[in-house]
Amino acid sequence: RCGFVAIVGRPNVGKSTLGNALVGAKLSIVSRKAQTTRHRIHGVLTRGPDQFVFVDTPGFQTRHGGAMNRMMNRVVTQALAEVDVVVHVVEAGKWSAGDAGVVPLLPQNRPVILAVNKVDALKDKNALFAYVSRLMEQFPYAAVVPVSALRDVQLEVLLREIARHL
Ligand code: GDP
Ligand code: MG
Repeated sequence: RCGFVAIVGRPNVGKSTLGNALVGAKLSIVSRKAQTTRHRIHGVLTRGPDQFVFVDTPGFQTRHGGAMNRMMNRVVTQALAEVDVVVHVVEAGKWSAGDAGVVPLLPQNRPVILAVNKVDALKDKNALFAYVSRLMEQFPYAAVVPVSALRDVQLEVLLREIARHL
């Protein structure tokens, strides 16, 4: 299996850390950077028969509805339309309206996996369940995976879910 994977989410949820952890922690990596007008290729991970190409996207800023913001969102939406799987990253314990603000930009016709990052710093598990439930009412996520990009928690599970949906 082989495919493009975009990591999206509001600023500061750990998108870059997650991308680096997924690509950097493995020995069988062919890491490279490339620049296109549409999206940046963050890294390539080759594992046995599977190859993942991770695409970096800027953090969605949905608070301001200005023309510049709409244009940026259009660029991100176009980039999302070209990948096979999307990983929507949110932050365990630090819920924000910015998370739900990303939802309208998620592609309806591709699998989107919700990665709940920073579970190492999670204090209130009940709040986590409530928040994830609310997000799942707003979008038909293909899977939900709690992870810690920083502490390498459940990253294998996330990779398996991505591969399953490629
Ligand atoms: P981005 O803006 O979404 O790309 O977020 P970054 O990857 O730059 O991370 C933002 C901050 O969150 C940094 O200080 C990271 O060290 C921290 N961070 C990322 N992942 C984790 C995690 O799994 N656990 C904890 N505790 N902090 C994390
Ligand atoms: Mg970043």
